[in-house]
Amino acid sequence: MMDEEFTDFKSGDPVHDIDLLDMTSHPKSPTQNPFPPKFSFSSSEGLPKLPALKKKSFLFPLDLELNTTNLLEIITTESKPTPWSLIENIEGLNTRCKSLVDKGRLSQALCCKKHAETLGEIQKIKETKRIATERGDYETAIQYRNIIAQLEKQLSTVEEIDDWLKDHKETTLQDLCDQIVQEQGEDMGKVFKSKFFFPDIKKSTDIELAQTIMAQAQQYTSVKHILNEQPGKFQTQSKLILDKINEELCKAMRILFKIKPLLPTMDKDEDLQVYLKALPEVFLVGERLRKVIQLVGIEKEFKEILAEIQLNWDEIRDLVWKVEGKIRYETGEFVCGICLFANKGLPMLCSSYFHVTCINFWINRVSVEPPHLVIGNNFN
Ligand SMILES: [Zn+2]
Repeated sequence: MMDEEFTDFKSGDPVHDIDLLDMTSHPKSPTQNPFPPKFSFSSSEGLPKLPALKKKSFLFPLDLELNTTNLLEIITTESKPTPWSLIENIEGLNTRCKSLVDKGRLSQALCCKKHAETLGEIQKIKETKRIATERGDYETAIQYRNIIAQLEKQLSTVEEIDDWLKDHKETTLQDLCDQIVQEQGEDMGKVFKSKFFFPDIKKSTDIELAQTIMAQAQQYTSVKHILNEQPGKFQTQSKLILDKINEELCKAMRILFKIKPLLPTMDKDEDLQVYLKALPEVFLVGERLRKVIQLVGIEKEFKEILAEIQLNWDEIRDLVWKVEGKIRYETGEFVCGICLFANKGLPMLCSSYFHVTCINFWINRVSVEPPHLVIGNNFN
């Protein structure tokens, strides 16, 4: 029974469908109707026209306005990377890294790049391990396996990768440039752009360099802001601090020259050791100021005192140490009211922020009055 019922269907013409949208637009044509009515009527009998038939095709109704934004959203959502789609995808990681750099998220970009680089290394070692296994050199293969295990420990976790995928931005070079333009005009904006730009990001070291450039750019922007607001105070205060630092170093040099013959035997002398520990800190306060002065291009006014400090420090260093104190640029929302270096967490005193060593030096060697410069949070 069933078979009989289906016979016509199976043997018929290609499947056609009624396009309801076209019910009135196509005149009835006998050749278009594969299901002719069992009883034929002539048109003169006044029966309603049968709807036109046509092959089913994908048609948009004319009055349908496509919402391309939604469509785009759907497409992007579908192709949006997930932590799992990225975790072993070097190309995807490199793309993500670039986007993180563009959003000012440099430390995450660095982790992302390092993850991609480690993956690349692992892939290479896996290939070498495979060759070693193939030639039966199992001892070498085991060594490679251990190296791979070590490298895998350096990879970022799924949670970390998930964080890279979140959509937010941090301060970018462009934000800083906009701030400069807003405060000091277009020309200063051009100067900023010629001083601070990122290298082409190819390796993780390029991002490390970008981090230093970003920190310097932040430093530059905040010091320019301070100079703009309180130009006289910056000069007076910095000169005073540098003079005092120089005095301290001169005094240290006299003391150390006096006790020079005894120095090798005094390594258990606690007072001397404390003093020797504090001296580089004093020098570093001046060093940070020197960097700030150079960064904003006003070293001419401080040339002599800076040269004197350097000379005295070199002599002291030769007497006592062989290692020089190192200075690191840091990004952060707080600017020290003495050396003007930015930092993430500086203690507050008299409504300004200071490095502990800077304010210690100020109180003990410069003045019991608070420093002159008034410095709020960075980038406000
Ligand atoms: Zn400081």
